[in-house]
This record gives sequence, structure tokens and C-alpha cells, in this order.
Amino acid sequence: MTDAAGADDTPATDRDVVVVGGGPAGTAAAVFTARYGFDTVVFDRGTSSLRQCAYLENYPGFPAGVDIDTTYDLFHDHIERVGADLVADLVTTVEPPADGGAFRVETQDGRTVRARYVVAATTYDDAYLLDCHDDFPRQYEGEDEPRFDRDHPDEYGRTAVDGLYVAGPLAGVESQVAVAVGHGARVGLGLVTDHRYEVEGLWEGPGDHRDWVVEQGRWVGEEWLENITEYHLEDVPDDLDDDEARQRAREVAETRQEWQIEADEVARRRGQGHRALAAHLDTDVLVETAVERADPETVLDALPDDAVEAYTADGAAGAAGGSVADGAADGAADGSADGASR
Ligand SMILES: Cc1cc2nc3c(=O)[nH]c(=O)nc-3n(C[C@H](O)[C@H](O)[C@H](O)COP(=O)(O)OP(=O)(O)OC[C@H]3O[C@@H](n4cnc5c(N)ncnc54)[C@H](O)[C@@H]3O)c2cc1C
Repeated sequence: MTDAAGADDTPATDRDVVVVGGGPAGTAAAVFTARYGFDTVVFDRGTSSLRQCAYLENYPGFPAGVDIDTTYDLFHDHIERVGADLVADLVTTVEPPADGGAFRVETQDGRTVRARYVVAATTYDDAYLLDCHDDFPRQYEGEDEPRFDRDHPDEYGRTAVDGLYVAGPLAGVESQVAVAVGHGARVGLGLVTDHRYEVEGLWEGPGDHRDWVVEQGRWVGEEWLENITEYHLEDVPDDLDDDEARQRAREVAETRQEWQIEADEVARRRGQGHRALAAHLDTDVLVETAVERADPETVLDALPDDAVEAYTADGAAGAAGGSVADGAADGAADGSADGASR
């Protein structure tokens, strides 16, 4: 989607979106902008709030919690699977666009990137933001230096600088991973929706971005298309020509039909999703779980001979070092059901 030459009146950019910070909030924002088709790069280095958490126990969907390295690995894998680039570098400067231009983003390792949108998602580091607008610095009581005013962004992370968004606790939301992820998602969705209103000429309703897939057959047929088109024509801005509005609303409805997937594709994605999760799990635990849940012969047949030999030679539970399997055994030994601290 990036325009190299700026031929359509939009600024020449290297990237559509630069996300500063690949923690919970930045990851979520990048997932939504990249899935929309925006060329997105995430820079991630420096002080992390998440890294200060010893073990994450309150992130829904992980019933016995998840360690921080695995959380980061899963987030960063997600960034790359949606087609965004993840770069281990620290953003040092964000320069807002001069008239009609692009943001200029500079990094510690000497990169310079021009971007149409910037999302700042760095709970602690705000130095690169302070010069972007006079309203950004705030002198908090008891602190020596001004910091970014966390009350400044609106609920979608918008700021006084067009195209510059702030996500997560840096935008004033509660300091919890689940909230940071939710807010990052909201900022990513809001950025896309703003783009659809301001650049693509859509309006409330058809312009509001949704990121969904549904099973094939839910949204089919001419009648469905017409109903959705009519529904989206309710709030057309006065200055838009009726025929053009109808055509745009119809295009949006047709795009929604592309979000349908067949049952075999749902099954394929299920397998892909499980494999992606398994790739981040401790191998000893995977083997133990597989042996518990499936016929051991089936498990052994599925393994390459050399892996079976290496496994039996070492002994399944005998691996040295604090593996997850060891942690689970410790939990059983001290009487807790799942090894989690209480
Ligand atoms: C001691 C402590 C314990 C916590 N325990 C929990 C808990 O148990 N459960 C819970 O839900 N929440 C916990 N939290 C809160 C949680 O860590 C944060 O709410 C959440 O991580 C915020 O996500 P974020 O993406 O906004 O910021 P961060 O987690 O800080 O992520 C920001 C990312 O940006 C990178 N970065 C920073 N500056 C730059 C830069 N200039 N350029 C490029 N990259 C940069 C960092 O390396 C980091 O990866 C805890 C926080 C602390 C401090």
C-alpha cells in the first residue's frame, strides 16, 4: 500500500506505519494495521514494562499463566506472521510531517524511515515524543523532567499530531497486559478507520474497520448484498454524490463477502494455529502431553528414529536444567495442581 513516489497527493513514504515498541500494545496495534494491508514495521528495543513481570498469571486464555520469554516469542511471531517487519532497534526521534509530508523516524542504529502513521507503544520511554508537539510534555509532581502527558491522547490514542497515535499505559490506560493488548488493538483499528474516512472517502458504518472471518455461507447472495448496501447508505455525508455513495457501499459489502472461509479452510487454519503455538512450547512438555493424551505407540511412530533413540537414551524427565516439565513436577510434588505459585 506504500506509495513510493507520492503520485496520488499522498506523501512519499518508506512505510505506511511505524510502531514504536513490540510489547503487548505495539504488537496488538501492528497485528491490526498489517492485516489491513498497511506496510508496517515494529521497532523493539529498550526498557520494557513486560520484562519486569516475573510471570504472567492474569492474561485471559492462559489458564496456568505464561512466562515472559514465551509471551514475547508469541507476540513477535504474530507480528511476523501478519507480514509486519520486526526490527531490534531503538527509536530515538520522531519528527512530525511538514505540510503534506511524512513522519521521519530515526533509530539508535542509524536507520531513517519515512512513515505515514506512527504508533508509540512504549510504556516507559517517551523521550522521542516530547518534541513532537507543545502539548505533549507535562511536568508530573515529584519528577525532575517533563514526561509525555498520558491524559493527552483520546480513547483511540489519537493526538494533536495528525497520524501520531499512542497505545497502552503510555496513553493512560491501566498497566496490565490484557488492557495494553486491548488498547493496542483499538488504536490499530482506529488508525485504519481514520484512514478509511480521511483518505478513502468512506463514512461512519462502511468506513468502520472490522477484522473478521466467518464461515462460508453466512454472507451470500444478491439480497444480502443489497441489504448491507442499503444499511450503509443511512449515514452518507451530504457532500457525497448518491451514485458514488451507493457504489462505495456496495464495494464494502462485496469486500465483506471475501471474509468468508470454507469449513476445510477453517480446519487447515486450526492445524496451522496449533502448530504455531506448539512451536513455542517446551519439547519435554509436548512429549509428555502427547504420551498422556494419545496411544504411546502412535506418538513413537510419529517421531523420527534418531529422535526416539536420543530421547530414550537421555530419559524423558531426566534432562538437566529448569525445564517446564521440571516445574510441573515440582508443582505436583508440593501439592498444587498446576505448579503455579499461590
Ligand atoms: C514490576 C511489574 C510487574 C508487572 N506485572 C504484571 C502482571 O503480572 N500482569 C499484567 O497484566 N501486567 C503486569 N505489569 C504491567 C505490564 O507489564 C504492562 O501493562 C504492559 O507490559 C504494557 O505494555 P506496553 O506494550 O504498553 O509496554 P511495554 O511492556 O513496556 O512494551 C514496550 C516495548 O517497547 C520497547 N521499547 C521501549 N522503548 C523503545 C524505543 N524507544 N524504541 C523501540 N522500542 C522501544 C521495549 O523494549 C518493550 O518491548 C507489570 C509491570 C511491572 C512494572
